[in-house]
Amino acid sequence: MTRTVYVNGEFLPETEAKVSIFDRGFLMADGVYEVTSVLGGKLIDFDGHAVRLERSLTELDMANPISKEDLLEVHRELVRVNEIDEGMVYLQITRGAPDDRDFVFPDPETTPATIVLFTQNKPGLASSPVAQTGIKVISIEDVRWGRRDIKTVQLLYPSMGKMMAKKAGADDAWMVEDGFVTEGTSNNAYIVKGNKIITRGLSNDILHGITRAAVLRFAKEAQMEVEERNFTIEEAMQADEAFITSASTFVMPVVEIDGAQLGDGKPGKVAPRLREIYLDESLKKAI
Ligand code: PLP
Repeated sequence: MTRTVYVNGEFLPETEAKVSIFDRGFLMADGVYEVTSVLGGKLIDFDGHAVRLERSLTELDMANPISKEDLLEVHRELVRVNEIDEGMVYLQITRGAPDDRDFVFPDPETTPATIVLFTQNKPGLASSPVAQTGIKVISIEDVRWGRRDIKTVQLLYPSMGKMMAKKAGADDAWMVEDGFVTEGTSNNAYIVKGNKIITRGLSNDILHGITRAAVLRFAKEAQMEVEERNFTIEEAMQADEAFITSASTFVMPVVEIDGAQLGDGKPGKVAPRLREIYLDESLKKAI
């Protein structure tokens, strides 16, 4: 099926959508993005994603080409015309396409930002069988830049990390810096010890996950203990459980780290319970 996508104010068939070869997103990874999940044809945590987008743009001194209200309308229209029941809406904003390649930022008055949105249809996203069995992760060195809190399109290393995981027979990689886990290639990382959920605190070292914020809030509301601190791969291997969170995986149990099974190699109690709470509560507030 040909999708309808959104490019710079126009809804177009994907085959007709075009961006300049001088676009700074293409030439310099000078762009930011967001991924909002869709369940039951509605957007999960749109507000959180819109707020983080604004922050990413501000941190990079990039103009926001669209109001929050119009952005919501574009999301909704794409979900409607592409008949998405479960899936994602991908959004990317770049510093636009000046008339030549130059390291210096173009003047935003003469070079408007480029904005692109498209949907990804993922039937069965919420009921993924992988959530029943859990995923395997490997650890790799975190060699990304120092502003991981900005959601930029510089995804080469995370993409390489996924390939390293795949080659090792695993599903994803947890990145490690100075001996401590930062995050997964496209998700935040957690371990569980007893009734305590442990995850790295927020800083420029990790992306401030929208799912992370919601899950930690729900966990506290459910009287679970949350500790935001660094942890090592060795500590993770000794944990009762581990899991990841992201807009597209929600809460996903991790059952193996660097080839070592966690517990009996099956998802424990905490991660599946958090997944259930997250899906229930997020659906109630979906728009
Ligand atoms: N960390 C990284 C590096 C990511 O790329 C992502 C999502 O793409 C996340 C964490 C999870 O963020 P969110 O829950 O907002 O999807």
